[in-house]
Amino acid sequence: MAFKRLVSGWDLSFHTPHRESRFTAETVVNQIQSVRTNKKRSMCLNYTIVLRGKWSIFLSLPHHMYHLLKFHMRTKKSWIGNGSIEIKLGSLLFVLFALVSCTPEKPQTGNEHAVMGTLYQQSSAEVRALQYQAFAIARIRLDQAGICYPGAALEDSTEKPLAVVVDIDETVLDNSPYQAKGILENFSYPTGWNDWCNLSIAEPIPGALDFLNYADSKNVRIYYISNRKEVVREGTIKNLVDKGFPQAIDEQLFLRTESVSKTARRDAVSLNHEIVLLMGDNLTDFADIFAHKSIAERADEVDAFRTEFGSRFIVLPNSTYGEWEGAVYDYDYKASSEEKDKKRKAALKGY
Ligand SMILES: [Mg+2]
Repeated sequence: MAFKRLVSGWDLSFHTPHRESRFTAETVVNQIQSVRTNKKRSMCLNYTIVLRGKWSIFLSLPHHMYHLLKFHMRTKKSWIGNGSIEIKLGSLLFVLFALVSCTPEKPQTGNEHAVMGTLYQQSSAEVRALQYQAFAIARIRLDQAGICYPGAALEDSTEKPLAVVVDIDETVLDNSPYQAKGILENFSYPTGWNDWCNLSIAEPIPGALDFLNYADSKNVRIYYISNRKEVVREGTIKNLVDKGFPQAIDEQLFLRTESVSKTARRDAVSLNHEIVLLMGDNLTDFADIFAHKSIAERADEVDAFRTEFGSRFIVLPNSTYGEWEGAVYDYDYKASSEEKDKKRKAALKGY
């Protein structure tokens, strides 16, 4: 490491009006190495120098200041003595003042509110139970559809073949590790999303594999309709195939088009298939009537379509994100963290 090469083996002295602190550079470098953070995400190198376990100095060193500092040390023109580095307090304050002018990239905040929702999604056995429950209902409905459309799933039938349409994220694949990483490392969608998709390591939602393989065994066509983008098509198919999902082929994977609406893609499937089930974690996985509505309107629409749920519409739980959250923010996703927090609080109904 350049900084280590620069100061290793030198004695450093800090003179203050009251005392002198002296320590070897090797000690400092070790401490520096153990506390430097955030090198990649900001253009600054952050150091905390601990003096004798008591005093600490935080240095946020931008690259250009780092090189300036290096230059001064090498030329020994200012406060560097021969064989030792001597930093007088005035010089130190000057350097610190200069460094303050480079504020490291402000850490993104505002993910704290997502902790409980993500924990619920990721670690509650209740969500797991809900997911099994959803696919159990789906299987019952599929069996009933087979009775309603006898022979429809047969290859030589004159009837339209039966089809099941499933969303992908939080319906058949679990992306909670992406959500969790975002909370822990202070980023949020879309940062890192495509990379996550292309890792192709998302685990199946409990119950999804059994159900879809059952549908496959009954010659029911499976269509994956997702708002993932085309750039992650390959990674998505790999993920589905690797985890054992049936019929995960290009022709049966409809990704986001110029529109996030899934209606055109559902209609394309309907042309030649009898869609017996739609499965998703977002109401727009079922119909556009639910899209971009307020909290109250969404509730009203669900009430209006109540007989469809558990019948042709099967909903999976997702407490981590979705249009439900957009409704809380009046779909102003770019609002500040403070504004979003206000809207969250305002949406709570007390008594
Ligand atoms: Mg989804």
